Formats: sequence, structure tokens, C-alpha cells
Amino acid sequence: MQIIKKANELTEIINELKKEGKKIGLVPTMGALHRGHKSLIDAARKDCDIVVVSIFVNPIQFGENEDFDKYPRNFEKDKLVCKEAGCDIIFNPEPQEMYADYKKEASLKENLKIKEEFYTIKVPTKYTNKLCGKSRPDHFNGVCTIVLKLFNIIKPNVAYFGQKDIQQLIIIKNMVKSLNINTKIQGCPIVREESGLALSSRNSYLTESQKEKASTIFKVLSNIELMFNEGFTNKNEIFEQSKKLLHKDIEIEYLEVCDINTLDYSEKILHNSFVAIAAKIDNIRLIDNVVLS
Ligand code: AMP
Repeated sequence: MQIIKKANELTEIINELKKEGKKIGLVPTMGALHRGHKSLIDAARKDCDIVVVSIFVNPIQFGENEDFDKYPRNFEKDKLVCKEAGCDIIFNPEPQEMYADYKKEASLKENLKIKEEFYTIKVPTKYTNKLCGKSRPDHFNGVCTIVLKLFNIIKPNVAYFGQKDIQQLIIIKNMVKSLNINTKIQGCPIVREESGLALSSRNSYLTESQKEKASTIFKVLSNIELMFNEGFTNKNEIFEQSKKLLHKDIEIEYLEVCDINTLDYSEKILHNSFVAIAAKIDNIRLIDNVVLS
């Protein structure tokens, strides 16, 4: 397994592999890898000749008051996860490699000014004015910018994203269509703890007791899915019933039904929609969703 830190070096390696006709799979991550990330690497390993995992905590997708500085970083453990999963190349650039004007010693606030000096992706407002975009207004612009940079460096045939971040997945699918990017976007199912809690790097902020309380988020979603499958369609009725299952220490930021392709809000719970939730426990923000097919 190779560990590459320079974009040019990686592009050269990829160009050679492409000449040999190799199919390249990319799994973009921010590290602190868990079984959710591993499931994406496994999917790539199954489909592709070469699996690249990028590990990069992307500063420009964080807000000034978010957890960029304390975001969990554990490169040594990540290397082991990647190696065991059969990854061929880890791409682990420094922020200065991805954003030339980034200053290592400066604050995030200072560094976010690079967005004014830099070409970035502007995601259409209809995708960013809802769900997570409401409380994280520039987040998806930052995500799409780094994803496009990774696509340009690696030119993957397929890129793997988790359905855990469903708004991100839908926005990236639409970016690829909109900008004629020659990469297939493969969505992968959510991997959960036994309790139902969706795995997330941010779960490392939770104590065992908070995790137990947080597992009721999935109980709410499961009940919504159950009622939908039983034929209930009234959104308010389904939501009110289901919210009763949430632990009292958890505060909902949003609970919405959206169209699976367009992200449009829906007043009815329908096939081809998903129900998404963001909720806070002691100020730790968690997201989850369930697709109704
Ligand atoms: P992150 O490192 O959090 O940026 O996530 C990298 C990729 O892993 C994204 O495509 C996520 O959607 C995906 N991912 C994160 N958690 C899970 C999970 N529990 N199950 C499946 N995929 C996940």
C-alpha cells in the first residue's frame, strides 16, 4: 500500500495505471475510519482494480464555530484499517497541498479567507437551503470543491459515498451530472452499531450513556418506516407518534421528508423519498436517515 501526500505524484501514478487499463475506485474520507468507511472500501475493492482512499480533513467545509480543530484524527489506525481492507493507495495531503494559501499556524477563521482567493464550487441554493445546509450554509460548497479536486487529481471510474450523508450524496450526484464529470457515483448503505446508532467519526465525542440515548434517533426513523409500510401516509401523524420514541435529552434540529433525487421537501411520506433527521445531544450534532423505497 502506497501513501502519497503530493497531488502531482498521485496523478502521475494514476496516469500510468490508466494506461494499463486499470479501473480506479476512490473512497473520499476525513479519516478516523470506522466500519462505515470500511464498507465503502470493501465495495470499491470488489468493483475496481485499484482502490484509492483519500484521508483529508477539509478545512473549507467547516464553519468557523464548528469542530475542525478537534475533529478526530488518527492516521496510524487509519493506515491499518486501509491495509486490512486491501486499499492500494492512501492519498493524505496536507491542507497546504490542496489550498496553496493555507497557513498551518493560522486559525480556521483566518484560513477560511482562502475561499475568496480560490475557485470554488457553488452548489445551487435549492440543494443547500434545507436540511444540514440550513445550519451549515457553506458546507456543501466546501464538500463539492474538495470532491471535484480529488476527482481531477485521481480521475476515478467510480467514487463511493455513504448514504449516511444523504444530502451530500444527492448533491454530488447532481454535480457530476451538471458538470459532465466522467465518474460514476456509487451510494452505499448506512452501517450501524447493534443499537441502531449510525456509525460516525463524531460518535467518538459521545460517552456510552450518550450513545445509548442517541440510539433512539434510529428508533424514531424505524418507527416512521414501519408506519409507512403499514400504509400510514399522514406525515404529521407519523412524525408525532414516532418522535415519542426519542430520548428526552435529545433535541431535534430537523426532521423532514425529501424527494430522493431532487431533495425537494414533501408534505407526504411517499415512495422514493427519504426521511432525514439531525439532532443534538449535549451539543453534539448527529444525523441519520432512512430511505423509503
Ligand atoms: P467522512 O469521513 O465522515 O467524511 O465520511 C466519508 C464517507 O464515509 C462519506 O461518504 C460518508 O457518507 C461515509 N460514511 C460515514 N459514516 C458511514 C456509515 N455509518 N455508513 C456508511 N457510510 C458512512
